[in-house]
Amino acid sequence: MIHRDLIFYIKTTETCQLNCDHCFTNGSNGQKGFFDENRVIDFMHKLKNKVPQINSGSVTFHGGEPMLCPPEKMIDLWQACRDLWPSLFWSIQTNLTYKIDPIKLTFFEKVCQKTWGTSWDYDLRWKSKRSSDLWRSNIKELAQDGHNITVIVSLSKKLLQEKEPIEVIEDLAELGVKHVNFERITSNGNAIANKRVFPSNKDLDHWFDKMWRQSVNQKTYQYIDNLFFDSILTSAVFNTFSGCRCRQCEQKVFTINADGSIGGCPNTAAESPFAHINENIDDILFNPGRLCNIEKESRRNQACYTCEVYDICNGDCHQLAWENGVCAAPKTLMSAVKKSDKELLNSFLNGFQGQE
Ligand code: SF4
Ligand code: SF4
Ligand code: SF4
Repeated sequence: MIHRDLIFYIKTTETCQLNCDHCFTNGSNGQKGFFDENRVIDFMHKLKNKVPQINSGSVTFHGGEPMLCPPEKMIDLWQACRDLWPSLFWSIQTNLTYKIDPIKLTFFEKVCQKTWGTSWDYDLRWKSKRSSDLWRSNIKELAQDGHNITVIVSLSKKLLQEKEPIEVIEDLAELGVKHVNFERITSNGNAIANKRVFPSNKDLDHWFDKMWRQSVNQKTYQYIDNLFFDSILTSAVFNTFSGCRCRQCEQKVFTINADGSIGGCPNTAAESPFAHINENIDDILFNPGRLCNIEKESRRNQACYTCEVYDICNGDCHQLAWENGVCAAPKTLMSAVKKSDKELLNSFLNGFQGQE
């Protein structure tokens, strides 16, 4: 009951200096304090001994805001675990709304090998232009210095109402961003109390359809990689299911909360962990809570089985809410992709074949 490619999210803290309305953890209200790197190191080694055949994986530092934690603690974990499995990719998902000092820069360069992620949204994150400008100038400076940055755009109701997809994509490309992804908000953490930030599923479908048509017109594949497209196009071209279409997150993902409790998908790990790193590995892997999540993820909505794009969609991420029988998937976009010629799809994929 374990995948050969694993994804670890290590939450270095549960809190953040920002307090976004859509935060799936609890923003600045999350529990204070930092993770214990030694207990995580011990857990990773125990897992390696128990399941030596793991092929590869990724470790992403997460939060709250992971950089609130002294980077030395993350560097210690990396040093102790970086050779555990043959191919282990290390990264961070950070809000980047801070001054970058030498130790943070060392972390980005040494641990992440200059490849890492941050998030952007139109109306949810920064309360002042100063904070937003700080993020933009950090991105610009680090991109110029050769950092390979992925920006995840949160799809709020206001963004969909007021921005064209191509405006967002071009703005990020001009800052030097190499990869963009688009995140649908789930009802966790702060977002539970802020329903106004959620667009309707119908509006999401419409915006994604515009994104596809505008991206084809502007040949965006020539200057930025759209990871949201990648997970759809690999299904259409190679019949592989990656990213939010894999339906195996609960088998692959271990989110280790700052207090040592463990969940699967990071969106629900803080509110419903199923185990703790102090437990033995069998008890963690075969924990009823984990098995229940795996079972839940394997079931699709009945409507998926007769849907004309099921072969590409695979039922989408299981955390997304349906609204009166309407799913949150980019159904119109996927229909258009099915009718597109392979050459166009391959131009967007640019060699990507669906590995995580
Ligand atoms: S979404 Fe990210 S930046 Fe915003 S409060 Fe949550 S952890 Fe902080
Ligand atoms: S279950 Fe959905 S939200 Fe969770 S990690 Fe997978 S794709 Fe992301
Ligand atoms: S588009 Fe919607 S109905 Fe069709 S397979 Fe995807 S989630 Fe299911």
